[in-house]
Amino acid sequence: GSRRVLVTGCSSGIGLSVAARLLMMCLLLSEVVVATMRDLEKRGALEKAAGDALNQTLEIKELDVCSEASIKECVNSLPDRRVDVLVNNAGVGMIGPLECQSTAAVKEIFDTNFFGLVRLVKEVLPDMKRRQSGHIVVMSSVMGIQGLLFNDVYSASKFAVEGFCESLAVQAMKFNIKTTLVEPGPVVTEFERKLYELAETMDLSKTDEETAKIFREMYLPYSKKIFTSLGQSPEEVSEQTFKLITTKDPPLRHQTNRLYTPMTALKHADPTGRLPLDTFYKMVFKHDRKLKCTKHLVRPGKENGKTSYVENVKK
Ligand code: NAD
Repeated sequence: GSRRVLVTGCSSGIGLSVAARLLMMCLLLSEVVVATMRDLEKRGALEKAAGDALNQTLEIKELDVCSEASIKECVNSLPDRRVDVLVNNAGVGMIGPLECQSTAAVKEIFDTNFFGLVRLVKEVLPDMKRRQSGHIVVMSSVMGIQGLLFNDVYSASKFAVEGFCESLAVQAMKFNIKTTLVEPGPVVTEFERKLYELAETMDLSKTDEETAKIFREMYLPYSKKIFTSLGQSPEEVSEQTFKLITTKDPPLRHQTNRLYTPMTALKHADPTGRLPLDTFYKMVFKHDRKLKCTKHLVRPGKENGKTSYVENVKK
């Protein structure tokens, strides 16, 4: 029968782009894409991208990764409950000083990014094992390998995702099920807009003045600059995700932005953790007492004519 790919979080960004990219293949191979989203009212962009493929090879279904009932309902609605490839993409970000986040908000990040994955895998893995085939593809992040300033909670949620998949992959392999963690650097999507929107409304009086200043005057402009200079398009990420789904022997991990590889390599180069810690500390704080570090962090590099701050890490 035809292969079925289920993607979560398809109303925008990478998920939307992955669904659209898969569609081109599925039309050729008569495979089926089940593009899911929490809020079906946001299906417009995907419908537009799908054109005539809608309802032939593309089905749009409701799925909230935070609700077990919603996941069950969606999977139960599929013929034989069959999901050959799960693309777990839905995710949310969080930036800012920890003191400014409520514990409830922190739990929400984990509920989507980590528990959302756990719920989905619990639902599809037993059937994949029975069929002795399947592929679990998970949108992680380079922050699932290396934590970054003011991304404590988000990074922790992606570390959880990485640990979960790394462990599960061994068992999955025994049942001929593949596992792939896709690790993008910054990608220009709604994700970024939502983060900065949240940062605008954050109550910085809940932290000390110095921390608030570092966040507002140094981190935010720096982070925005990184997105502008190094950010990939969702299409760049979906093209690579597409290749990972269609290749015969996909890797456990795939970084989409090679400019970030040196950053994640620091960790493996020094088991004491000093090398990455010192490097990030220097990058962020050392160059500059006036909190105007951006120009030291982002400076022209040689990679693809793009700006490369990773060049500085290598020193
Ligand atoms: P996005 O905000 O455009 O897309 C995220 C999607 O997840 C949205 O459509 C949102 O509605 C959906 N979603 C959120 N909660 C959900 C829930 N409970 N149930 C179902 N769907 C839900 O952002 P994006 O950049 O496309 O993010 C996609 C994935 O890529 C996320 O897992 C994110 O962590 C990861 N990622 C993003 C970046 C980046 O810089 N944008 C970098 C690395 C990794």
